Amino acid sequence: MSSFKHLDEIDVSGKKVICRVDLNVPMVGGKVEDLTRISRLVPTFEYLIKHNAKVIIISHFGRPKGKFNMEMTLAPIADALSGVMQGREVKFAVDCVGSDARKSVDKLQNGEMLLLENLRFHDGETNNDEEFTNDLASLGDIYVNDTFSCSHRSHASIVGLPKKLPSVAGHLLADEVENLEKLLNTPKQPIASIVGGAKISSKINLLNHLVDKSDILIIGGGMANTFIKAQGYEVGKSLYEPNLIDTAKDILRKANDNNCEIILPIDVVVAQKFEAKSECKVCMIDNVASDGMILDIGFRSVANLSEKLEKAKTIIWNGPMGAFELSPFDVGSISLAQIIATLTDDGKILSVAGGGDVVSAINCSGLTKSFSYISTAGGAFLQWLEGKPLVGIEALNN
Ligand code: ADP
Ligand code: MG
Repeated sequence: MSSFKHLDEIDVSGKKVICRVDLNVPMVGGKVEDLTRISRLVPTFEYLIKHNAKVIIISHFGRPKGKFNMEMTLAPIADALSGVMQGREVKFAVDCVGSDARKSVDKLQNGEMLLLENLRFHDGETNNDEEFTNDLASLGDIYVNDTFSCSHRSHASIVGLPKKLPSVAGHLLADEVENLEKLLNTPKQPIASIVGGAKISSKINLLNHLVDKSDILIIGGGMANTFIKAQGYEVGKSLYEPNLIDTAKDILRKANDNNCEIILPIDVVVAQKFEAKSECKVCMIDNVASDGMILDIGFRSVANLSEKLEKAKTIIWNGPMGAFELSPFDVGSISLAQIIATLTDDGKILSVAGGGDVVSAINCSGLTKSFSYISTAGGAFLQWLEGKPLVGIEALNN
């Protein structure tokens, strides 16, 4: 269990509080496209303002590789932050360390907010460089980690700063950890895990771990194709990983040894092209044409999943069932979201979903609120599911 201190266990009044958050949000034409992630930071900021702290906000954005890059400036995000804070002014400093940052921090009054420029404009952030960490730390009195989604990274602002300053977890981080611990540390059995998405290669550890922990493991999305192939069926022109057929066989064998029932698609939606509204048909798994491309699970698979999930008490879902960005290949994922939402609403299961793409698929279904918990963290959520500690949370625990 996590043993970190919470924000309300430290006196922040009149203090310069460095708040590490995740402002790496989708931007279109210089504007924040979706304010969901940013609005979740409001409770921490409001707490700090109410308690007269000087709020210094830090984050990364994109991968600028240690150099200034106008396309990855956080400047427009200061306006978005101001928007979610009901028009409160959010000042901006053009660098996160050095004299510009120092001058802006020195001018900051109690209850004011300042956003510093993208941490990754300096190599020291990703290299967890000591000097860079000291420069950052010198700007504040207290460190708050309020980003679960970045807490798997050994970067200066995640693992370096807590060594230099009194450190606590912000409301968002504490909330995410509490929810995940409550739902997943001693989950109600039977457990059904669902893994989809494009490839096995990015999720081998996850699959191996879930085979150990789950009673049922449902595999969908592009990664199911490699399993389908491993079972001796043809997948035509579908995305699959020939070099991972043996890995897929190992996972199937391990599942069998562990009494974990593996569920693969029984029918699939096959198209000629990877394009929206491309002509498509539903085929049984042993009947995929050599020029066909599997882009979603079929309705018989969905019905099968619905029946299997009836037996579960906990459902964990990562990765969409198909190429959900293209209609009509979103039907499998949206139908699955509906099944899980209904089971949750009826009080039959606890449901946890996480991962960038599966969360957007669930958002498309409009059923986000029905899930017991949704984690917007991609890599950090996967690592948590794999049972590995997150370095940022360990740094706070110490
Ligand atoms: P998550 O972000 O939820 O962890 P991933 O990033 O692993 O999910 O995978 C999401 C991607 O997988 C999506 O871009 C989706 O289009 C793709 N995908 C799912 N099924 C297929 C398929 N059958 N063929 C090709 N791509 C697929
Ligand atoms: Mg993804």
